[in-house]
Amino acid sequence: MDGAGGRGERGRRGAPPAASRGRGAARGAARSSVRGRGAGGSPDGAGTLRAPRRDASTARRGRPARRASAVRDPAAGGGEAPAAPRGRAPAGRAPAAQRRAEVPDGAVAAPAAIRRAPSAAGALRLREVLSRLTLGRQDVSEASGLVNQVVSQLIQGIRSKDGSFDSIERLGAGSYYEHVKISEPNEFDIMLVMPVTRLQLDECDDTGAYYYLTPKRNPKEKHLFKFLDEDGKLSALKMLQALRQIIKQEVKNITNVEVTVKRKKPGSPAITLQIKNPSAEISVDIILTLEVQQSWPPSTQDGLKIEPWLGRKVRQEFRNKSLYLVAKQNKKEKVPRGNTWRLSFSHIEKAMMNNHGSSKTCCESDGPKCCRKGCLKLLKYLLEQLKMKHPKQLETFCSYHVKTAFFHSCVMWPNDTDWHLGDLDHCFQKYLGYFLDCLQKSQLPHFFIPQYNLLSVEDKASSAFLSRQIKHQLNNRFPIFHEIP
Ligand SMILES: [Zn+2]
Repeated sequence: MDGAGGRGERGRRGAPPAASRGRGAARGAARSSVRGRGAGGSPDGAGTLRAPRRDASTARRGRPARRASAVRDPAAGGGEAPAAPRGRAPAGRAPAAQRRAEVPDGAVAAPAAIRRAPSAAGALRLREVLSRLTLGRQDVSEASGLVNQVVSQLIQGIRSKDGSFDSIERLGAGSYYEHVKISEPNEFDIMLVMPVTRLQLDECDDTGAYYYLTPKRNPKEKHLFKFLDEDGKLSALKMLQALRQIIKQEVKNITNVEVTVKRKKPGSPAITLQIKNPSAEISVDIILTLEVQQSWPPSTQDGLKIEPWLGRKVRQEFRNKSLYLVAKQNKKEKVPRGNTWRLSFSHIEKAMMNNHGSSKTCCESDGPKCCRKGCLKLLKYLLEQLKMKHPKQLETFCSYHVKTAFFHSCVMWPNDTDWHLGDLDHCFQKYLGYFLDCLQKSQLPHFFIPQYNLLSVEDKASSAFLSRQIKHQLNNRFPIFHEIP
């Protein structure tokens, strides 16, 4: 359901209901211990946020300002905005809205609310929420430093082995955090990429996203032959089992940090590392990814309709980039055999995030500023908060839904002037309105694979539930952003 391959899984794993209460404290513990290490996550330039100055100054009121330069942008590549520390929610400020009688769920249609002119106070509140999210990122970057160190050591170890994985790399080495989920500073997804010369792709269902893979019978690919199943298809299960064995050996060589490989869950081949600090545990999902230099499959032909927004040339450049496939069990398969792979576009998503303007200078230091990323972060945060409140009812939703709706919105409102920084409130409601529309229709096409509906008809009830929850928030000026559990 998501780009990187692991996040959806994580979403389903979800937070246990009890965690929604205990989390604040746990996060605090994680934060202090991680910070104590002073690991400073050496951010690469690409993802560093140029935070609007206005945000930085309002932010200072909430918590002590930290080094802005090390602050990373969670929206840059599919990460999630970290939740703000609950205990410090601005209870005193705000909510004229909360004093008003709350509108019952779904009683007022969303479009009416959207047309309502946003008051200055409302806009200020959203901006405040956003700056709280911005502050939380420091914790993430510090945890990232530790993860970075462990994963680098691990990759060195894997590559030094004479084996099938000696060409493995971290996706986008150096800017890898942009591919991690960071709603919790202690949960990460890391894509480990294996280059493959050529693969035959066979669709395994009608989504156009899941494939069986057959490597070419070519001596260059002989390191893959041992991972073929009886039908000659590349088995993700076999590859992950082999990789798991190597990683289990390799973590023993890491002595400065306590790293263990989590026990395999029945039916899931995922590899999860557990990095122990005195008071915090960081969990890292390893996502096995194949990279192949060949044209994108036909299911993508009518996707990525970014012409009005980023232009025809950029679209073609993107489509000339490698194809990535992540080991991912297709849940629709009656007898799961661990041999299905799913297309991943997180490298393109990251590129679109980092270069998101219809003009080249959007959000550059000398260019006009927009609120696109701000809107995305707010909706991610909203979904996250709602999921904490209703983990069971919302378990099928993950940040990839929000991100997909975001890209569609960018195409629908393609100009930088449509996302003027000062119009945050209005833009957010516009984007939210589109997302609500998708939920009501149970129709959200994958941005790259239009035939693939991310809101399946089977999930209609949960779409309706989420839609009601969001409308309630919208009609009451987002009380959940200001709640202290
Ligand atoms: Zn911009």
